[in-house]
Amino acid sequence: MTYVVTLIPGDGTGPEIVEATVRAIEATGVDIRWDVVEIGMAAIEKNGTPFPQSALEAIRRDRVALKGPLTTELGTGFRSVNVALRKEFDLYANLRPAKTYKGVRAPAGDVDLVIVRENIEDLYAGIEFDLGTPELTEVRAVIEKAARTKIREDAAIAIKYISEMGSRRIVRFAFEHARANGRRKVTAVHKANIMKFADGLFLRVAREVAAEYPDIAFEDRIVDNMCMQLVQKPELYDVLVLPNLYGDIVSDLAAGLVGGLGLAPGANIGQDVAIFEAIHGSAPKYAGQNKVNPMALMLSGMLMLRHLGETEAADRLERALAEVVAEGREVTFDLKADRDDPTAVGTREFADAVIRRMGSPVRA
Ligand code: NAD
Repeated sequence: MTYVVTLIPGDGTGPEIVEATVRAIEATGVDIRWDVVEIGMAAIEKNGTPFPQSALEAIRRDRVALKGPLTTELGTGFRSVNVALRKEFDLYANLRPAKTYKGVRAPAGDVDLVIVRENIEDLYAGIEFDLGTPELTEVRAVIEKAARTKIREDAAIAIKYISEMGSRRIVRFAFEHARANGRRKVTAVHKANIMKFADGLFLRVAREVAAEYPDIAFEDRIVDNMCMQLVQKPELYDVLVLPNLYGDIVSDLAAGLVGGLGLAPGANIGQDVAIFEAIHGSAPKYAGQNKVNPMALMLSGMLMLRHLGETEAADRLERALAEVVAEGREVTFDLKADRDDPTAVGTREFADAVIRRMGSPVRA
């Protein structure tokens, strides 16, 4: 069977890590036809817009995309092309596994967490009112009347909203993921003791959904306590489900626990479309140097293979990555004890090592 996957090379170091990842995925033996499209800076140069219709149509048609990082440039008319993509395809679930691999300097010992972050609502919905605008004056007056409170005149306002539908689908996603991946527990993370309505709603819905999954344990934690617990006893946790803002922060904390952004994969998943990408950005200062670590994007590719149902290929790729990193010889500078270690290999050579581990011939 041939899969068709949209490939977005991205910019900065994106094209290099994408090329390395494509070679590693192809070496698993899964047959993929890559539908290459440009979004972001590369698209501006050719199409005058960072968000060409033809690229969006390709993603809609193929339903699965692998994406390199996109540099966020000011003045393109989009706050962030990455955020715009999530909104365009209603990619409501941000899946971020955080797992320690042997050979990586990770401060917290053995960690194997899955963070499920709601990706659309909350303070990140982009509902903000800036100082000096008539909208701010209007909104402040309405809020002051309805909430019977005063808001300082020199305050900007951002609105946080959390819906029943949004909460239900993300918590269901977390439980379904737990069930499909043999995980034993889901922890809902919130601040319902302070935000009784918005976070209170999230927690109530999480409890209702948990009742539909008697085979999976459920508990909840207040977000500040969760952060401390993750640093002190991460082994107690399994799948975490969080509203957008907490999810963003806690998933970076979890990435730090397992050795940093260079190892952190991600997926943005909606009803119809799923886009797989590393959590890190385009690291522009290393662009074109064959230097950065492609492992986070390769792990995102591993998640993509699982999403396609290619479990065996996903396992093979993950095992090969784990072996190369455990051995610690043919790894990029960020995985060496000394970042100036002259034995560090480049992006391409790291991919070659992973491909050899899978028993495949290395193709240029
Ligand atoms: P960054 O993730 O690009 O870099 C942060 C640090 O990590 C830098 O020191 C960088 O050199 C290092 N780093 C990142 N990836 C690495 C890798 N694969 N191997 C080794 N080292 C790596 O974050 P930034 O500098 O804040 O952002 C650069 C640009 O990327 C910005 O325009 C930002 O908006 C964008 N960005 C895009 C995405 C995305 O496309 N999803 C995500 C985050 C940031």
